[in-house]
Amino acid sequence: MCGIVGYTGPRQAYPVIIKGLKRLEYRGYDSSGVALWRNHKIDLYKKKGKVADLEEIMIGKDVSSNLGIGHTRWATHGEPSDRNAHPHLSASGRFAMIHNGIIENYAQIKNELVKKGYNFLSDTDTEVLLNFVEDIQKNNNCSLEEALRIALKRVSGAYCILLIDSEDPETIIAARKGSPLVIGIGKGEHFLASDASPFIEYTKEVVYVNDYELAIVKPDELILKNLGNEKITPYVQKLDMELAAIEKGGYDHFMLKEIFEQPSTIYDCLRGRLDAAAGMIRMSGISENIDKLINAPRIIIIACGTSWHAGLVAEYIIEELCRIPVEVEYASEFRYRNPIVHPGDVIIAISQSGETADTLVALEKAKENGAFIFGVVNAVGSSIARISHAGAYTHAGPEIGVASTKAFTGQLAVLMMMALKIAQEKNTISKERYQMLLNELADVPEKVDAILKNATLIKDIAETYKDAKDFLFLGRGYSFPVALEGALKLKEISYIHAEGYPAAEMKHGPIALVDAKLPVVFIATSDSYHEKIVSNMQEIKARKGRIISIITDGDSVTPTLSNHHFTIPPANELIAPILNVIPLQLLAYYIGVLRGVDVDKPRNLAKSVTVE
Ligand code: GLU
Repeated sequence: MCGIVGYTGPRQAYPVIIKGLKRLEYRGYDSSGVALWRNHKIDLYKKKGKVADLEEIMIGKDVSSNLGIGHTRWATHGEPSDRNAHPHLSASGRFAMIHNGIIENYAQIKNELVKKGYNFLSDTDTEVLLNFVEDIQKNNNCSLEEALRIALKRVSGAYCILLIDSEDPETIIAARKGSPLVIGIGKGEHFLASDASPFIEYTKEVVYVNDYELAIVKPDELILKNLGNEKITPYVQKLDMELAAIEKGGYDHFMLKEIFEQPSTIYDCLRGRLDAAAGMIRMSGISENIDKLINAPRIIIIACGTSWHAGLVAEYIIEELCRIPVEVEYASEFRYRNPIVHPGDVIIAISQSGETADTLVALEKAKENGAFIFGVVNAVGSSIARISHAGAYTHAGPEIGVASTKAFTGQLAVLMMMALKIAQEKNTISKERYQMLLNELADVPEKVDAILKNATLIKDIAETYKDAKDFLFLGRGYSFPVALEGALKLKEISYIHAEGYPAAEMKHGPIALVDAKLPVVFIATSDSYHEKIVSNMQEIKARKGRIISIITDGDSVTPTLSNHHFTIPPANELIAPILNVIPLQLLAYYIGVLRGVDVDKPRNLAKSVTVE
């Protein structure tokens, strides 16, 4: 996945790059490194671990330079180590490269280079690409840009690469296919990065580089070309993002900040779209394509991870309200099997980053088959947003904690509005129910706020259960995907094994795990399944499992079955998932912190999964 940063201009490159890498650490933190142009050579510094570990080895070094590139790695080829850390130097030492992605045919190219006498200092696919470029440059005696173009025509896989040349004090050459790249345009300077966060305080003018494009970037000049060497006019956009949005703002962790931001992020998501008083939902992406949506023979939702859980909630809601059959697919499975997609099918792609590699490829495939693609994405201007025919942003702002929280509730809010709008246009919902759900949705930010006011109660529950080895999360109906999400959150940031299950289904297996040590979290708020889930609680209690329940305020029965309970303001069952997930996010957060896990950067994970 990796985060990449580059700078060329009058400033000192090193501090810009280090600060930028810290902001991109959500993308990977196996190792980091910088390459700085100094006196006709490239100085390389790299270190296994987080950016802070790199900074330590840099103390006392002369890093003055106006041109540099930096990388924070999520290893795909070769273990996390100093040796495999980027940047890499070419065999002659002339060029340095950083890379985000995977060169799939690296083994074949490496064999050819080994036969020619090349030695490799790392196990990475990146070093292979770099030496391949150098080999082409030498053999053809051509420019670096030309050599790169030739090389890229031969490689398969995904990449965003930055390249510098010890013989050129001011140029960074960049190329992308499949991994993100944005260029910030300053006055007499340019910034390059995986997203705009590294340079947000310097410029808001950006160019998003597209697949199969090459950028030749100097302090005063930005040239964009395709792989056929034809110039492309850069499309300059103005960013709407403030520095405060990517800082911790007094919270201990980004994850906690993002959990607590949810009343306002959900409000921002609803704002301008939901007008409960007027009984209206305004979503241009839906209105402009309403015929396609109401006539869709079916909807396929494609997503990964937490977004996939949002997709499951949407499946239940869309089928209930719109009476359109819905399938929810893992992008990684969908892209490799031979799925049946017909023209007229609607694909909803859900992704926080909008760069999820599997989702992107799955969409391309569906698009080829004539499906209509609707993107539900958080990162504005991201690849999925751009390849979709239409879409709706979740407007949750930058999400930096690796475990997704506010993006999930934003996705649920968008999907709920979509379902309501389609149902209304399709006439599959009564006026009363439509208005009732609009009112309920409008109340969500306030209810989330009320839940967060009781966060310390969850902290106490976390204290009690923090040493558990396993957890079970159970829910029925709309709460089943919430159980999955609760289990995923806990796994991600506490390293406790957790499973989410439909509450009734637990009798077909997981009930064997139940003993006096196993905490079982029930999402048991008042809904049409309530009596059934209370029976499931009895079944766990009879086997001495420890029950933590999420229940509706005013329920006097369920607490008697629970060792601990947490109350949620009353809400309609279709809306409840947005509320019910909040205590589960908090539970995972507090347990993770109590167990000493770096919750913003849990091991092995990265936020934006741009490799398959
Ligand atoms: N394939 C490269 C490596 O393993 C880059 C990985 C990435 O993009 O995360 O070093």
